[in-house]
Formats: sequence, C-alpha cells, structure tokens
Amino acid sequence: MTSITATESATLERAADAPMLAQVERWAAINSGTGNLAGLKAVAGQLADAFAALPGTVRLVAPDPVESVAPDGSIRTAQRGDHLHVRVRPDAPVQLLLTGHMDTVFAADHPFQQLRWLEAGVLNGPGTADMKAGIAVILAALGALEASPFAERVGYDVMINSDEETGSHASAALIAELAKGKTAALTYEPALPDGTLAGARPGSGNFSVIVHGRSAHAGRNPEDGRNALIAAADLALRLNALKSLELKVNPAKIDGGGPNNVVPDQAILRINLRPATPEAMVAAEAALRGTLANIERDHDVRCHLHGQFNRPPKPLDPAATRLFELVRDCGAALGLPPIRWNATGGVCDGNNIAACGIPVVDTMGPRGGAIHSADEFLIVDSLAERAQLSALAMMKIAERGTV
Ligand SMILES: [Zn+2]
Repeated sequence: MTSITATESATLERAADAPMLAQVERWAAINSGTGNLAGLKAVAGQLADAFAALPGTVRLVAPDPVESVAPDGSIRTAQRGDHLHVRVRPDAPVQLLLTGHMDTVFAADHPFQQLRWLEAGVLNGPGTADMKAGIAVILAALGALEASPFAERVGYDVMINSDEETGSHASAALIAELAKGKTAALTYEPALPDGTLAGARPGSGNFSVIVHGRSAHAGRNPEDGRNALIAAADLALRLNALKSLELKVNPAKIDGGGPNNVVPDQAILRINLRPATPEAMVAAEAALRGTLANIERDHDVRCHLHGQFNRPPKPLDPAATRLFELVRDCGAALGLPPIRWNATGGVCDGNNIAACGIPVVDTMGPRGGAIHSADEFLIVDSLAERAQLSALAMMKIAERGTV
C-alpha cells in the first residue's frame, strides 16, 4: 500500500497549482501541424522559455532528414521542425526520460484551429489533449519535484519532438540516444477519459515499394512490356495473404500507370504492416523481402523497398509491468479511481523507448478523447490530477532508486 508523506504532500500541492490551463490555451492557440514549420518554431520558442524555469540546459535539436517516395517515384526530403531537449542533473543516481510532442495532426489550413468550451471543464481544441496538455503536465510535475528534497536524487532528460504524429522519423535517433541507461521513462499521450492507460502496443511500419517494369505499346507489342501495375497489384495480394493474428497488413495505395495504350513501367505500392510482437516483426520483414524477390522473378520486374518499422512492438515486460503497478499504486494513494491499462492498436514514441529496453508508461498525460478529430477534448480537472500522479510516481522512483 503506497502512502503519501507530509513532504510528498507539499510537493503534490505545488504540482496541482501550476498554471497548466493557461499554458495549454496559449500553446494550443498556435497551429503546429507536423508540416507547419513556422508554427512549430513559435511553439518551440514558447516551450523553451517555459522549460527554462527548470535548472539545467535547454536546447533545440535539429531534425534528422526524412525521406519519402513521391507519387512519381522520386525521393523527396521532408522538412521537420526542431526538437526541444532539456537536461537536468545527468549525474544523479536515478535518471528519468520524459517525452512529449509539440506537433499535431492538424495542418495550418485545417478548419479546426479554435479553442472552445464544450461545457464547464471540457476544452475542445486542436492538440489540447494530444498533447499540449501533456507538456504542461510534464513541466508542472518537474517544477514541483525541483522544489522538493527528492530533486538531488533524480536527473532527467525531457524530449519534446516535432514529428511524433508522422512517425518520429526525424527524432527516433534522439529518442534512442536519450533513453539509454534510464531508470524509467514517462510519455505524455493522453489517458482515456476514465483514466485508463495504454498497455501493450503493436509495432508499425510504413513501406513504399517502387516497382520498375518496362513500357511497350498496348496493342503492337505488349509482350515486350513488363507491367509494373500488375506486379504491384500482385504484390499487394501476396502481402495481404501474410495477415495473421500476429500481423496486420494494410495495402493502402498504388501510385502509377498512365495512358490506356501503354504498358505501365512504374508503380508504387504503399503498405502498412503492424506486427504484434518483436518476433512477428522479424518474421514480417523476412516475408516482405522474400515476397519482393518472388515478384521480381515472376513478373521480371525490379522492386525497390523504402521504409522501415519505425515503431517497434511494445510488449509489457516485467520491468514495464512494475512501472505500471507503481503508477497504479500512486493513483490509489491520491484517491483516484482505480487506474487500469489495456492493450491498444495505436503506436507512439513509447514504442521506440520500449525497444531500447527501458520501462515506459506512455499515457501519463491528462484525460481526454476524440484525438485526431475536430472533436478533440481535454478534461481540464485532470491536469492537476495527472501532474500529481507524475510527481508522486517520480518521487517514489527517486526513493526506491528503481521501478
Ligand atoms: Zn499524441
């Protein structure tokens, strides 16, 4: 049974008193869709100012280059925003990683740009729950921790990336670098409206296969052609047949083809694969490569594979389970309704952290819902509640020295 000491209680009051709602209103009023570099820059600047309240260093980290395959088969480089990195007491005995993202799924020209109250205590707005509120909770919990006697035992890195919503391709290396050697990690995706956390997650990978065939006249000499569209369609069917309980397969799009009288020489298959376990991910990668080789042989075409499993599967190992139990016990000590966790089909930066062998709870943010839609809402009371939950969990980890 987890109990709360008088010292912890003072820290918890401080966490709840932080100006989180005002921060959410300010940060969510700025559009920061993953592709809106100006908006991301503005938000990053505000976040850097806010996190300067903590001791330690605050820096902006340039994004890694991100390549994508255009509909015409050319390779394009996507521009991403800077990531925010805060480092405090890297020599303390207990080291934590706290992560959030400043980007949203709503582009600068999306109609959903305004904040409004749906009812008292329920705020509707782009990126409120997902996850500007989560960032405010990180700062509130750490600010309280800093004023407590536990601070000297704990060091931490805070990483707020600019491209979580598009798969963290420009920040995956930074996440892996910062996760190294950590005692535990907390990520601030929103909890469900009833407070339930996300437990195990599958992996996910997006792939583009460029199929190169050979063009010919559709009437005069079609036998000299190698139809890339047919090969891509056959590839989609064969990959679709790999579906199992352990692997979800979604052929999503084929780009390619042209005039009716030409055998098409190029097609691009877009496909999403979601393996349930690390073993299924390895098997899926092998099956993907084997299927490509068979398509090349059977259709006399060349296939170029782009993409990777950017979100490795996140099973709950014993250390992760202990961290969930610690968070659950902290919730009970705070008098919250019982905190549960369920497996989910979604993926997030928690996948990348878990793949580094670090225990992580990745839905430490406030309660909210309808994310990625214009109905997105934040339950405002849960700001203080989740800031206290985080502060208490971090104090308990500091006291124990482990999860
Ligand atoms: Zn999110």
